[in-house]
Amino acid sequence: MAKAAILESVGGLTIGEVELADPGPHEVLIDTKACGLCHSDLHFIEGAYPHPLPAIPGHEAAGVVRAVGSEVKTVKPGDHVVSCLSAFCGHCEFCVTGRMALCLGADTRRAPDAPPRIMRADGSAPVGQMLNLSAFCEQMLIHEHACVAIDKAMPLDRAAVIGCAVTTGAGTIFNACKVVPGETVAVVGCGGVGLAAINAAKIAGAGKVIAIDPIAEKRDLAQVLGATHAVDAMTDDAVDQIMKISGGGVHHAIEAVGRQASADLAVKILRRGGTATILGMMPLDCKVGLGALDLLGGKKLQGAIMGMNHFPVDLPRLVDFYMRGLLDLDTIIAERIPLEKINEGFEKMKGGHSARSVVVFD
Ligand SMILES: [Zn+2]
Ligand SMILES: [Zn+2]
Repeated sequence: MAKAAILESVGGLTIGEVELADPGPHEVLIDTKACGLCHSDLHFIEGAYPHPLPAIPGHEAAGVVRAVGSEVKTVKPGDHVVSCLSAFCGHCEFCVTGRMALCLGADTRRAPDAPPRIMRADGSAPVGQMLNLSAFCEQMLIHEHACVAIDKAMPLDRAAVIGCAVTTGAGTIFNACKVVPGETVAVVGCGGVGLAAINAAKIAGAGKVIAIDPIAEKRDLAQVLGATHAVDAMTDDAVDQIMKISGGGVHHAIEAVGRQASADLAVKILRRGGTATILGMMPLDCKVGLGALDLLGGKKLQGAIMGMNHFPVDLPRLVDFYMRGLLDLDTIIAERIPLEKINEGFEKMKGGHSARSVVVFD
């Protein structure tokens, strides 16, 4: 029996109890120790991105392996692990060409003839697993290709946020943008993902790092994490300010909000040859584009889902960055809350004021 925050209907989470199945051949049963609250969860909770219900959200987690299936080779009981929603099959076109974040992970789902991974505690009905993780629960039953073992010295509450926000922000800098030392990076939106991108830009040796956010508190955090300049996104002359700071536009503009206006801003502040990377989950009818002059100027536009991670390699490296004092997860995490306070945590997220809230399980 495991306590979980269940999305019964759009609007909010309910604390309830569930029962997890025994691990199948390639599955891992994990005692969840911490799970970050991610904006993507909120999209599902608010119904902006539809999902069959009931289901358990949560996908930014760390924990300790309790049991493994007969074929599992990558982790063993007692291992400390971080989960990642970029579950990969290992043999599709995307996996074998090094773009495993694009893998749809079809082989990592439970076999159709196997019992559901999660059931109501009384056994009456299945509860849906979200993104093949469902980490707002004391236990997770996931495919071995959805987690990676990390250094046991790493605190698990900080390890959790590496699983989504930090992997996405840092992966965008290292994998998708391949920032060259000295280049200028602008980050639109300083939530968990944006702050991680700023911190990673500093680690990568970016020249100027410009944080763009309407909230002063977040701009301050961004400067603690490595931003050299901060601009209020809501001022009329925001674009002019960025153009001036960057000497005619930035090499890399990273959008980490998921709004039309911030994506358009990312395109607008590019210098010739610059690249805009859109990370935010925008409303499904949104479109971002380059004009004729932008294209003649060699500007580029890209998505970078989950930071185009290769998480089995990237996550242990990010842990190492933290252990060496390079990656500042302590600043990115605003608060630790019990599972019972999860709805309050999401309310705070809607207000836009805090960095990352993390649910900790005892
Ligand atoms: Zn996420
Ligand atoms: Zn694949």
